[in-house]
Formats: sequence, structure tokens, C-alpha cells
Amino acid sequence: MPFDQVCPRCEQDWVRPYRFKSDGARFLLCTECDSMWWPGETVAIRCASFLDDVVAARLGVAEPWTDRVWADVLEPVPDPAR
Ligand SMILES: [Zn+2]
Repeated sequence: MPFDQVCPRCEQDWVRPYRFKSDGARFLLCTECDSMWWPGETVAIRCASFLDDVVAARLGVAEPWTDRVWADVLEPVPDPAR
């Protein structure tokens, strides 16, 4: 599966596959601007969610990063080609 797509919002980084540690739910993330897309969504600015908003909603908190870091919540999906 090619994920060699440049983030359409910031155009500064690649959109990469990540997953939530809690339930393994996958999504695509740009670590430069924190834009994310769910599987099946078109990777376009108009479809983008913000990681902070999604994590806050999942955790039921307003500020998700006050007492945790990204690595507590999400991780890169291992590349099966490696
Ligand atoms: Zn971006």
C-alpha cells in the first residue's frame, strides 16, 4: 500500500499510517500539522480532522496533551515491507 502522499494542508510532510493503541483503530496522520484522515476518507483539506480534536473526543477531555504524549495514545503502523 503506497502512502507516499504529501499532506494537502501543510505540504511539509508525508501522510503516514498510524493507529490508536487503545483499540487499534487506524488513520492517516501528518505529524507536521496534526491533520488526520480516517480510512476511506479522501486525503484532502476539506476532509481533514485535527488529531487533537479526535483524541480529546475519544478520551473525553478538553486538553489531551497535558498529562500524556502522543506515544501514550498512538503509534505508527509497522510497514509490512520492512
Ligand atoms: Zn500536514
